Amino acid sequence: TAAKEPPKEHQIIVCVRKRPLNQKELADKKELDVVSIHSRDHLVVHEPRKHVNLVKFLENHSFRFDYAFNENCSNAFVYEFTARPLIRHIFDGGMATCFAYGQTGSGKTHTMGGKFTGRNQQNSLDGIYAMATRDVFSLVESPAYVSLNLRVFCSFFEIYGSRVYDLLVTGKPQLKVLEDGHQQVQVVGLTENAVKNVEDVLNLLDLGNSVRTSGQTSANSKSSRSHAVFQIVLRKSSSITERPHGKFSLIDLAGNERGADNNSVDRLTRLEGSDINKSLLVLKECIRALGRQSAHLPFRGSKLTQVLRDSFIGGKKVKTCMIAMISPGLHSVEHTLNTLRYADRVKEL
Ligand code: ADP
Ligand code: MG
Repeated sequence: TAAKEPPKEHQIIVCVRKRPLNQKELADKKELDVVSIHSRDHLVVHEPRKHVNLVKFLENHSFRFDYAFNENCSNAFVYEFTARPLIRHIFDGGMATCFAYGQTGSGKTHTMGGKFTGRNQQNSLDGIYAMATRDVFSLVESPAYVSLNLRVFCSFFEIYGSRVYDLLVTGKPQLKVLEDGHQQVQVVGLTENAVKNVEDVLNLLDLGNSVRTSGQTSANSKSSRSHAVFQIVLRKSSSITERPHGKFSLIDLAGNERGADNNSVDRLTRLEGSDINKSLLVLKECIRALGRQSAHLPFRGSKLTQVLRDSFIGGKKVKTCMIAMISPGLHSVEHTLNTLRYADRVKEL
């Protein structure tokens, strides 16, 4: 997976990242790695099937994306070809979004850096949130942009069903989403903290990540059923009511597996599942419409796209990156194929 140059003028970058088999999967003799990455943009999923006469065979599904990152790629490497090329864009007055998509356990939070670690841990700089922040601060001071006098602000919130919660306030208050007469959407009272350096942001991320996961057990994790949105906002003044100079939204999406396992789950989980499916579907339609430069974006169809609306409008000034995360194991093959098909649709305009 030796990618050479970052992409240049793509409006939408769509990539896939395969995580390694974990210890538990390695210990299970029946858990095979069914995903091969053949080159920097090509991967094949080997799906075990049976003919009508019950003879087993492998059906090979081939996919191409802007990049296919194998299990040996680091977060830093993935960052280099996904979010990093979008940083300059927000300094040039654009809006950017980077989505982590995939089933629960596929590596979304690992990639974005949304795990609560407690500070002073080595890996606190290892996720895309933190790497993007570091690059933003180095550009603020760079000769090309220092004269713009940009100030940096951060927000971090969670969307669970149609409810929005502030992750930068202990107790996770629910926020109202209002639309004014000009279709401007506002998340009322959302914390937007002024930040002076990387350290400030790491502290906020740590607070947000702990607020996001507090009171959860891994077996009953609300975080896998909610979207987390971390935003880096560039402003020319400290007035947060003005339209920002540029904004980067980095989004750890809810697990996309809810639709499939419908039989064994309770009503609430099913409702959550259909909510998540709907928002992911609307998201896909919005990104596709964006890529086609279509004037009609169906952003109203879900809370997620509604609150991201200002990142979806503005014609050429919008850039998007989707990282589809996949688990390599045989037991995940259905979810993996679903994820890849979704990503394929996002890519294809
Ligand atoms: P998700 O957020 O998609 O539910 P996580 O990011 O929490 O998934 O990942 C599930 C587990 O797999 C975590 O323990 C994480 O550390 C591990 N993991 C995910 N991706 C990788 C990777 N590329 N390399 C090593 N471990 C990974
Ligand atoms: Mg997660």
